[in-house]
Amino acid sequence: MVFIEGKSASPGISSGRAFIYKQQDLSFETEKINDVQVESKRLHDAFNLASGELLEIKNSLSGDLGEEYGHIFRAQMTMVEDEEFLNEIIEIIEEEKLCAEGSLKTIFDGYSEAFSSLGEDDYNRQRLADLADVYSRILRILLGLPDTNLSGVPAGSIVIAEDLMPSDTALMNRENVKGLITEKGGVTSHVAILSKSLGIPAAVGTAKAVSQTTAGDEVLLDSRNFEKASIWIKPGQAEKLSFTKELKSHEEKTALISEMKGKEAITLDGKKIELSANIGSLEDLENALSFGAKSVGLLRTEFFFLGTKTQPDEEKQFVFYKKAAERLNPGMLVIRTLDIGGDKEVGCFELPKEDNPFLGLRGIRVSIKYHEVFKTQLRAIVRASAFGNIKVMFPMIADVSELIYAKKLISEIYDELKTEGKDFNPDMEIGTMVETPAAVFIADLLTEVGDFISIGTNDLTQYVLCADRINENVSEYYRMFSPALIRAIKSASDAALKNGKWTGVCGELGGVAIAIPLLIGIGIGELSMTGGMLPEAVSIIRNLNYSDCKKAADKVLLMKTEEEIKAFLQANFA
Ligand code: PEP
Ligand code: MG
Repeated sequence: MVFIEGKSASPGISSGRAFIYKQQDLSFETEKINDVQVESKRLHDAFNLASGELLEIKNSLSGDLGEEYGHIFRAQMTMVEDEEFLNEIIEIIEEEKLCAEGSLKTIFDGYSEAFSSLGEDDYNRQRLADLADVYSRILRILLGLPDTNLSGVPAGSIVIAEDLMPSDTALMNRENVKGLITEKGGVTSHVAILSKSLGIPAAVGTAKAVSQTTAGDEVLLDSRNFEKASIWIKPGQAEKLSFTKELKSHEEKTALISEMKGKEAITLDGKKIELSANIGSLEDLENALSFGAKSVGLLRTEFFFLGTKTQPDEEKQFVFYKKAAERLNPGMLVIRTLDIGGDKEVGCFELPKEDNPFLGLRGIRVSIKYHEVFKTQLRAIVRASAFGNIKVMFPMIADVSELIYAKKLISEIYDELKTEGKDFNPDMEIGTMVETPAAVFIADLLTEVGDFISIGTNDLTQYVLCADRINENVSEYYRMFSPALIRAIKSASDAALKNGKWTGVCGELGGVAIAIPLLIGIGIGELSMTGGMLPEAVSIIRNLNYSDCKKAADKVLLMKTEEEIKAFLQANFA
């Protein structure tokens, strides 16, 4: 028996036979050429063929995984249909007299470097994966190799690979795949997106999974724990026995959970909790709605700005916000204004290079510096507020003057729109993201000015504990259940509630099963999370007593260590 651990990319538990998937060998020698025209034509034809293949994949996805996953291939098709892009490669063929393969590599290397330097956020990682996928496709065609993918996986397979590209998985026989295990990839990779949307358990970052497995080996995969996934290869009798028990109880639980889709999140003793989804696009919104979401507690607007060379104008943004608001109406849509800087960079902004970007020009600070960009975004949001239940909130607030500045700008926009005869909701709620220690200390002042707070635990954790959220070297110090963080949440929430304002949590913690009773007990009234987590959250809440949650929170607030807190919550609520 071999035991391996990895990161959980899609929660679940399953068993099957190992199907080892190896990527094709696409190595080649870069050669000098004589006939530029022949080489350019080869490249041209390869782009055309690639475009045809992608169209086929995209079409075969519609009505199945549909828009939600299809947009990955739309992004890839845009790349292969981009004339300018093709011409850049042809220029290398012409000027450097390199073969099509070598010229393609030169340009792709340049682009991947540019994307990598944009930072490590989810969006950039996904675009980088798209780029690599497109590169492999065109190169494979140039090398005259056949297309390989996972369409022929036998029933009951657990796919094990070094890495999986979107095109490997797009045509995968989903009925036959019981789990996905990759050595590479993070919890926000394509594999994670795909497996979550299909409900297939998945583990990523599983060192040496391929070399430790032989095709056909029995594999047990347990990725239910949000922190880690466990994998047994060729398990013994004892492991199999305890796994079968776990599997059965999980299946019973899953059946119950799926019945919870869209039900009210209300505790046994009648406390109603607002459950909402975190989204970054209209595709995300559709996905969240399919899991029963009724409202959105965090629309990360920066994704709309990523991947475009020019900033989206007021009209474009207005249409986007309006569509989302109308789709959710009467459910609320909390729009967060542009949150760039730190780990999030966008191509259409020239932000200065900083030694400590997380302590630099980020969130609201960027909006204040680039007044016109901020105003354009706010005008679009205020105009869209006429079409649904829109609320707006601001990231990285550390001083009440920043909120006052934003509020004043909104009231100027109200006046402008009145003069222009445009519709808007004059009572749109204005809130603050609490994600800096400063915002925790002044939550009372912030809720005198604003209408609500939404606690961004992803950043609050890093700023309270001084542990960079993307630095692997300090990941053990990034403690989501640290007493300091729990007390910070409690303090901000109490201050807001005292001012009669509502409180939400939109960081990852809000969607962690054992955190839900704690946050409710602290007094949080709204939890916003990944759409796929919503049915389970409903199920958890409907089995809780608010009075028990309050007692548990009181106890937790006196505990000394994260271990103690996690163990207590695990014992009482898991
Ligand atoms: C957060 O910081 O918790 C949050 C929700 O914002 P983001 O993850 O987009 O920084
Ligand atoms: Mg944040």
